[in-house]
Amino acid sequence: MAQNFDLVVIGAGPGGYVAAIRAAQLGMRVAVVEKNKLGGVCLNVGCIPTKALLKSAEIAYTVRHAQEYGLRVEGPVQVDFQAVIARSRQVAERMSRGVQFLMKKNKIEVFSAAARLDGKGRVALLRDGKPFEELRAPHIVLATGARPRELPFMRIDHRKIWDSTDALSASQRPDSMLIVGAGAIGVEFAYFYHMMGTRVTLVEIMPTILPAEDEDIGRELGKSYQKYGIEILTESSVTAVDTSGPKVKATLRTPQGERTLEVDVVLSAVGVTGNIENLGLEELGVRVDKGAVVVDEWYRTNVEGIYAIGDVAGPPWLAHVASHEGILCVEKIAGLEVEPLDYDNIPGCTYCQPQVASVGLTEKAARERGYDIRVGKFPFQASGKAAAIGHTEGFVKVIFDARYGEWLGCHILGWDATELISEAVLARKAEGTIHEVMRAVHPHPTLAEAIMEAAAAAAGEAIHL
Ligand code: FAD
Repeated sequence: MAQNFDLVVIGAGPGGYVAAIRAAQLGMRVAVVEKNKLGGVCLNVGCIPTKALLKSAEIAYTVRHAQEYGLRVEGPVQVDFQAVIARSRQVAERMSRGVQFLMKKNKIEVFSAAARLDGKGRVALLRDGKPFEELRAPHIVLATGARPRELPFMRIDHRKIWDSTDALSASQRPDSMLIVGAGAIGVEFAYFYHMMGTRVTLVEIMPTILPAEDEDIGRELGKSYQKYGIEILTESSVTAVDTSGPKVKATLRTPQGERTLEVDVVLSAVGVTGNIENLGLEELGVRVDKGAVVVDEWYRTNVEGIYAIGDVAGPPWLAHVASHEGILCVEKIAGLEVEPLDYDNIPGCTYCQPQVASVGLTEKAARERGYDIRVGKFPFQASGKAAAIGHTEGFVKVIFDARYGEWLGCHILGWDATELISEAVLARKAEGTIHEVMRAVHPHPTLAEAIMEAAAAAAGEAIHL
């Protein structure tokens, strides 16, 4: 006997479970099918556990520098790696249980199984690959997420070639590690493992680390990493790995020529690809492109009644994007009047130290789009709060349109950058201009004053520069 719902969501990551809750709030009878743990990658093996690990790294750094704050700590910091990992796993577990509670609270039926489309309006639940139950609904949301991409010559074996899940759940700290790819995930793990005591080499094919960020950010963060002792090889790539010996022998192409490196493990952090397989997409004729389900601005696929949100619908692969797509998707299904998501106003964050956060256009992109721009930069060196807390690295860089003062982009490198960026997101959403940013009274002393000062710098009116 099939069970009937108004909406079936496949996958309970931040896309799927949020879509389900919003749909339940709107009065729909909702089912969620999840083959793994509630919370998806984000809560279980992504955003949350990595931030827990990074907190341990940050504390290790702070304690090592305690003397700068007039505090004496006897002896070197001892890293209990297993305890660090255990804490991160506990945090993840707790968050996943929180989603379970939310499902119950919103009267959402949760099915623990793999799901595949079994025709229009029909979802088959599978055990060991075999269907055992059917759910029916006029609307089916695919929220199956993404998984790490692999380089063809460097298959993830989970022993010597790791993916991010191996890196956040390792039972032992490797002495040396090569990280391939300096996007947010590679950069965060480089900071974490370095602070745990691992010798880290970070390889990036582009000229700067975090290549999607404004060039100034990647360059400055690269300098901080080198100061820590993390080796950075930009404009470089791995061309081969040999895992036959006790260590991994990696061959690298660098601007200085070919080089080999012996490390305990290689972490592959070269991006993700959508989970589009075994979902019955082909049979139903659902269009896919470059490892993602193709959708319109309301997350509708080309097949009526089938939608896709979050990582499976392609970039930007971010939890907050997945959640907002989920909300919009079901609000549109419910017939609410909604605006499409503004993909130009999506913040991106990297939680290393100094942190990186940005929203809107980079300076280069603004110029390429033909804007006449005003750029303002305020270094945390000149911020009283940054001096007081002992974190003067980095800066705020803002980009405004010279004509109307529209806030085109904000790029922050520094302590708490990932918290500060929401000011720019909100101001841009409210169409605040340079004038509002400069004249909004910011509390003193705060790091957020640097945003106000950077805006003033763009107008040639910075006070503390
Ligand atoms: P997912 O979270 O991937 O959830 C998809 C769910 O679908 C999974 O639980 C999966 O088991 C389930 N599923 C798949 N197929 C089926 C099926 N056939 N049947 C039933 N269930 C199925 N993003 C940020 O915004 N900030 C960060 O700091 C951040 N850090 C990250 C760190 C790491 C190490 C990684 C790997 C990712 C990070 N991300 C971060 C990205 C973020 O985790 C993803 O963008 C987000 O989880 C996408 O949400 P989603 O709901 O689309 O998919």
